[in-house]
Amino acid sequence: MQVFKFGGASVKDAQSIQKVAEIIKSHQNEKTLVVVSAMGKTTDLLVSIVKNFYNGKGDPLNELSSIKQGFEEVLSSLFPAGHAIFDDVFNSFIEAEWILEDPLADSYDYLYDQIVCIGELISSRILAAYLNLNGIKAQWIDARDFIITDDTHREANVDWEATEQRIKEQIPSLVEQYTLVTQGFIASTTENHTTTLGRDGSDYSAAIFAACQDAAQVTIWKDVPGVLNADPKWFNDTELIEELSYRDAIELTYYGANVIHPKTIKPLQNKQIPLYVKSFLEPQEKGTVIRATKLKLPVPSFIFKVNQILLHIQPKDFSFILEDNLSHIFRLCYEHRTKINMMHNTAINFAISLDDTGENVCNLIETLEKRYCIHTVSDLELITIRYYNQETIDRVLVDKEIIKELKDSYTCQMLVQKKREL
Ligand code: ASP
Repeated sequence: MQVFKFGGASVKDAQSIQKVAEIIKSHQNEKTLVVVSAMGKTTDLLVSIVKNFYNGKGDPLNELSSIKQGFEEVLSSLFPAGHAIFDDVFNSFIEAEWILEDPLADSYDYLYDQIVCIGELISSRILAAYLNLNGIKAQWIDARDFIITDDTHREANVDWEATEQRIKEQIPSLVEQYTLVTQGFIASTTENHTTTLGRDGSDYSAAIFAACQDAAQVTIWKDVPGVLNADPKWFNDTELIEELSYRDAIELTYYGANVIHPKTIKPLQNKQIPLYVKSFLEPQEKGTVIRATKLKLPVPSFIFKVNQILLHIQPKDFSFILEDNLSHIFRLCYEHRTKINMMHNTAINFAISLDDTGENVCNLIETLEKRYCIHTVSDLELITIRYYNQETIDRVLVDKEIIKELKDSYTCQMLVQKKREL
């Protein structure tokens, strides 16, 4: 059995859904479980509704109904009038509408999960219904019945034992009879509260389903030809990497290559399941395979992370940055859900670079200031080159100056800012 994952771009409109159905049709004799993300930018729109509702701004119910209208158009071009999917999709909005009609009673993170999940619930319903309409025996299943997590809303941790037990118990017999269609990104606590696995977490869902039933392979279908050595947004002469080791893949995603969600690789590596990354626009092309191989990356790879903030953290009493201070700082970063992308310490200064994600970073700084002097530098870019050489470093440094640099034998990380005009 195999797992396919289609991201938001591959189901962004009626035409794309037809394309996805063609791909699935060409594999209909293989046992396949399909994991699908929310269509296009649906998750962003839902997140903005949750934010507005939480902050008492805008008109969240009205914003939700514009999303609904968008789906109506997609449905009308894929299904005949009166098809049951129209009701199924509209019913998926009901619980979110109830939440938005009531006074605010829950934490932001909890609300987020209960509302944002409808993006995946809807896209998976549409895809399953469209496959059936086109003669592919598909069965919609609710990922929340299978992937069990703790209650860390918005970034839940998987309970592997419970998840594996549920998947092993039910999926093998279902997949014998149907192409299964389920949601990425969403999961559930044992108390049946919806949780989510972190933004872009659908890749991770595919890996969870695959690992728990020892799938033969996973394919992530994307709008790029496979894993490239840089994001085409930055370079126009990117190269396709045909084969990649789990080790290189995990390092690249850790440093921010957004082609695959960073948590995806571990469960697959642990079970030695190969991961294919292929283009849904050119499904016949080979793409990239990530598997156990001793091959090193054939070309240097570049990862750019913009919108970084550098925090210089210094104890107020001039004491050393030692284990007690470090563990305190790490704890606060963890509690404020800030991700450290680079760090460096000297006797009395600890410097960390974080994604400048707004409110949580401000709150972190406020808390740190109780015990440390904080100096910040924002608007920075973090450039990581795996398998670097001087030529690749020179290439990315045009018009930029280095604020901080870390190198080991394989990887060079540079925190840079635009050169100021004199
Ligand atoms: N829809 C979710 C997001 O946009 C999960 C995913 O696409 O993987 O983050």
